[in-house]
Amino acid sequence: MQEKLINRFLKYVQIDTMSDDTSTTFPSTKTQLEFAKMLLEECKALGLEDVSLDEYGYVMATLPSNVTYDTDIVGFIAHMDTVPDYSGKNVKPHVVKDYKGGDLILNAQTGVTLSPGQFPILNDFIGETLITTDGTTVLGGDDKAGIAEILTAIEYLINHPEIPHGTIRIGFTPDEEIGKGVDYFNVKKFNAHFAYTIDGGLVGELQCENFNAASATVSFEGISVHPGDAKGKMKNSLTIACEYQSLLPADEVPELTEGHEGFYHLHDMKGTLEHTELHYIIRDHDKTKFEARKAMMLSLADQLNQKYGKDTIQVTLKDSYFNMKEIIDQHPRVMALAEKAIQNVGVTPLHEPIRGGTDGARLSFNGLPCPNIFTGAYNYHGKYEFTVVNHMLLATKTIIELSKLVAQA
Ligand SMILES: [Zn+2]
Repeated sequence: MQEKLINRFLKYVQIDTMSDDTSTTFPSTKTQLEFAKMLLEECKALGLEDVSLDEYGYVMATLPSNVTYDTDIVGFIAHMDTVPDYSGKNVKPHVVKDYKGGDLILNAQTGVTLSPGQFPILNDFIGETLITTDGTTVLGGDDKAGIAEILTAIEYLINHPEIPHGTIRIGFTPDEEIGKGVDYFNVKKFNAHFAYTIDGGLVGELQCENFNAASATVSFEGISVHPGDAKGKMKNSLTIACEYQSLLPADEVPELTEGHEGFYHLHDMKGTLEHTELHYIIRDHDKTKFEARKAMMLSLADQLNQKYGKDTIQVTLKDSYFNMKEIIDQHPRVMALAEKAIQNVGVTPLHEPIRGGTDGARLSFNGLPCPNIFTGAYNYHGKYEFTVVNHMLLATKTIIELSKLVAQA
């Protein structure tokens, strides 16, 4: 199983599937469609049923039940694309057998080193087989590890018909990294009772909590007058914008928060004396606090409008996605099964909240409860990305266990 898993993974990561957040097509890049076609053929070759690739690039397939009684239909989902903002072209994976500890030279020419000094978690992986980059690209473990694990688990179930399982649906999605992964995902066609994205990192991760997320554009209108003649006439939108930002809690920012702590994040600003815009994202796991954050942004605008004149400041809020926990909590069995499956492969489930969103969050609100399970890939979205082969194997075994457990209950 390990060999099949590694071979699949090494093959997948060498195929460029970067998504592009400036693209107007769906999927955002043609390369993803090429990869989808390859996965389609692989599903067919495995003997899966209902194998399909739609115009948007979604690949779906079914492993039929091998039991005579009714069971829930479980889905496993992973995304095909890699991040747009770090190269995923010409990925040259390195397999490092029996990691001895200490610095790993990824690229002798450029001197890029994967070091436990910078990433102390490496100290836990001495003796493990790692797969790293050559220091010039991402690895693409996010999320090709998930795809390789799902297909290897499915192949194992096909080759071991003595293992009872219900109907299993698998889905591979494009454009997750640009936040559009489930824009055209057909939940009805997928037709599972619940599903899991295999898109976490650290071994043991089982996540059902993500941020509630919104964006805010705050615009400021000024009045331009010659500076020498400005007293009592000029209204400087730049300084009013600075004042607005200074009224937000200074310690509730991404760089000073962790765990369940939410934030306001000013990520873009542009302005002239007459017009300034501040762009924020707002994040909080707690729905009440999330709503309070949005209300705060509006009330600060009111406060400054009283000072500088009405319509000086305008706030436009837009919700992006919500914490799936409120949905998952209504389906306790979905988490209980995953918890048990992870324990059955000898791993302690870890419940760190996701400080971001997942495709599963939006799927959960679209009627498909969908927590997130680990892949065994680390340091996502950059040249220091690597995977631990044993952890990938544990993810694969977790998928097999889950398939069994769903048929038992
Ligand atoms: Zn991912």
